Amino acid sequence: MSFVTRFAPSPTGFLHRGHAFSALSAQAAARAEGGRFLLRVEDIDLTRCRPEYEQGVYDDLAWLGLEWEEPVRRQSAHFDEYRGALDQLIARGLVYRCFKTRREILDEIARAPHGPGEGPEGAIYRGQPLSPADEAALLAEGRPYAWRLSLDRAQETVGGWEALTFTEAGEGPLGETGVIQARPETAGDVVLARKDVGVAYHLAAVFDDALQGVSHVVRGQDLFEATHIQRLLQALLDLPTPRYRHHPLLTDAQGRRFAKRDRAESLRELRARGVSPRELRAELGFD
Ligand code: GLU
Repeated sequence: MSFVTRFAPSPTGFLHRGHAFSALSAQAAARAEGGRFLLRVEDIDLTRCRPEYEQGVYDDLAWLGLEWEEPVRRQSAHFDEYRGALDQLIARGLVYRCFKTRREILDEIARAPHGPGEGPEGAIYRGQPLSPADEAALLAEGRPYAWRLSLDRAQETVGGWEALTFTEAGEGPLGETGVIQARPETAGDVVLARKDVGVAYHLAAVFDDALQGVSHVVRGQDLFEATHIQRLLQALLDLPTPRYRHHPLLTDAQGRRFAKRDRAESLRELRARGVSPRELRAELGFD
């Protein structure tokens, strides 16, 4: 079987050690299998992605000694393709328009009879389409809306979640490994097309993994939970399911995860103070 993997950063900040570890892990996996390594730029969030961060991705990865295939797929150039996938789901009644604001969604979740459930994306939301008349009225007012996946309709379509499994060759955060039963209900009615940008992460990622023939998704354990809903989308869109290999997240000396929001030292800062790529690779366990 051919082995194709990818590193898929979102250029919303400069890369840090955690990204370096993830990219090196994916490339090492491809090398070990004589496979291919792709770089994909997940830049659909036009409000947060910036050209200098994208350039930073190329500069930092090249500095680290990574090599990837050209051309790089940049998601912002393919909105029409994601729209095509969304249109299929719309035509089959698998998604519904959601006009609610973030505040309204959070209030509704807080009022839920069993209290708010916590999913990987925060509190879990399950909703319903509006009646055609109410929807037409809001559309006529020009109110913005997102498209949400209807888990109720999805469950009817695939006939229950039992048939939905994926193979984990690494480990989830709780040691999950082997054949895993997908649990899409842990994510709720996720947004597949945002009000502002017309698509959202899960749909674009699943679409591209299939389009690019990705056979193995090597990524951090923080994305393990995302696999549950991604597996469902693969079933709904009739796309193949790659194998997954989630790796542990790199932590600093205090045991904290590296994250942009904590102002982790970026690779470019580390480079500026004279750390060599060889030193960083060695620190991260790669030679
Ligand atoms: N773009 C995502 C991120 O930066 C990664 C997506 C993935 O590997 O599936 O977190």
